[in-house]
Amino acid sequence: MSEIDKNKELLFLPLGGSGEIGMNMNLYCYGGKWLMVDCGISFADTYLPGIDIIMPDTAFIESKRKNLVGIVITHAHEDHVGAIAYLWPKLRCPIYATAFTMTLLKSKLDEAGLLEQAQIIEVPLDGNVDIAPFGVDFVTLTHSIPEPSALKITTPAGVIFHTGDWKLDPDPLVGKAVCPDALKAIGDESILAMVCDSTNVFNKEPAGSERTVRDNMIQIVKGKKGRIIASSFSSNIARLETLAKVAVAAGRTLCLIGLSLKRNLAAAQNAGYLLDFPDFLDEEAAAKVSKDKIFYICTGCQGEARAALSRIVSGNAKYLKLSKGDTVIFSSKIIPGNDLQIARLHNSLVELGVEVITGKEAFIHVSGHPGQKELKDMYDWIRPEISVPVHGEIRHMTHHAKFAKSIGIKQAIVPHNGSMIRLSPQPAQIISEVYRGRFAVDGKFLIKDDDPAIVSRRRILYNGAIIVSVVLGHGSIFAAPPHVTALGVPDDKEGALEEYISKLVQDAVKKMPLSVRSDDKKIAERIRVLARKAAKGYTGKGTGAVTSVNITRI
Ligand SMILES: [Zn+2]
Ligand SMILES: [Zn+2]
Repeated sequence: MSEIDKNKELLFLPLGGSGEIGMNMNLYCYGGKWLMVDCGISFADTYLPGIDIIMPDTAFIESKRKNLVGIVITHAHEDHVGAIAYLWPKLRCPIYATAFTMTLLKSKLDEAGLLEQAQIIEVPLDGNVDIAPFGVDFVTLTHSIPEPSALKITTPAGVIFHTGDWKLDPDPLVGKAVCPDALKAIGDESILAMVCDSTNVFNKEPAGSERTVRDNMIQIVKGKKGRIIASSFSSNIARLETLAKVAVAAGRTLCLIGLSLKRNLAAAQNAGYLLDFPDFLDEEAAAKVSKDKIFYICTGCQGEARAALSRIVSGNAKYLKLSKGDTVIFSSKIIPGNDLQIARLHNSLVELGVEVITGKEAFIHVSGHPGQKELKDMYDWIRPEISVPVHGEIRHMTHHAKFAKSIGIKQAIVPHNGSMIRLSPQPAQIISEVYRGRFAVDGKFLIKDDDPAIVSRRRILYNGAIIVSVVLGHGSIFAAPPHVTALGVPDDKEGALEEYISKLVQDAVKKMPLSVRSDDKKIAERIRVLARKAAKGYTGKGTGAVTSVNITRI
């Protein structure tokens, strides 16, 4: 086989979002230059105790920073834009996005003190930018947020259609419906690869329209006598408008609770959406309106402890106490992993005598991602040589690849984070694996997710901790009995375990040769192993508590 000219290769490399739903970060490379598409976060699970936010480790692209020509953001969801304020200082290249996304991004950069330094370029809807060697055309689709942009990325080695998150909403209510002719025209240009959303690939039915949600919701609210409280994702601007229209149709006054709702509404209005959004009251004024004339929209549809809905339910909202006859509408899906906290919230509401309506009882939410019918339409319009499923767990992406082949796409390749895929010259194949990892936000620090702080925190969480303080005097003999503190370790009698370990350590150290006793490192390690084993034997639990030993010599 003839040698491949590296400068003429077109490469695709996901660092996040392939093998998981969240923290999207995709890279394209041509002629040694790199273009990043999206830079998102994800939420940590219990494997990372004390961590809320995670994102891709950018070590690989940091090493190529001089050749990183730009970051393009497809839309303003956190899994696409949320990591910029954390990672931009490591990347330092221009950022491109449309107006709505840019407004939210700017407030994030401002909060992080980066707004002055970051070079941000606002791109008009359906506009194009030259980020040499990449020509990037923004193509507005429909999703659950304004201005979701697919990207047509043109290089001398071929054209990519990167869909971003999308669905086909025939009547999106905010923004325009997708134009099949425009997409067919893109398909006519001979697209090398389509890098496409896999989230709902198992759905046989299309996502449905926001219009249907609006009509259903009006029916549900009609005739209700108590307060109505509706909750959805703050960034779902079409839903926010739907809820406002439902309130108006029911002759109710609006009250908005939650900072992120107000922030998203302001961003939408700044970008020219929802300009006729009705006036709304604050919580104090809303409390004076009769129950059958008020409509609250609040944050917290995922049961988040700090969001408005949880505060209201736990009685911590000064001006709003829910009671029998009130109705709470969850106009959103349950994000996997949030099931338990949402169930807890539902139960608390039911206990208060509140009627709870979710997507199970009524069609009050539409997904923002394409089912099989929509995927087929998109493949028929774009007609790529290669399908590259992303934005999914491995089961979604594998199914997506099979699906693409079943409808006539010649090649389909399933990436993992870190897979370097050569798209051109063909055939598409994984040519190497690069370093990939995850960063975790831990207070003020951005650390690797396998940082010793997290590893020992996880062990402490399961097994507890033991601290042994030893004071040695002349001849490396105890000046006082070892002091032992046990944290989070079960005991049948308070202090019994500590006493037991203290005694064991005393006896063991006495028997150690002077060469060990006089060496801080050696003696500390011997005591550490002894105390950990003792705790394990005493409690019969796990791998033994995390043990730390302090040696003081006087
Ligand atoms: Zn997404
Ligand atoms: Zn999205």
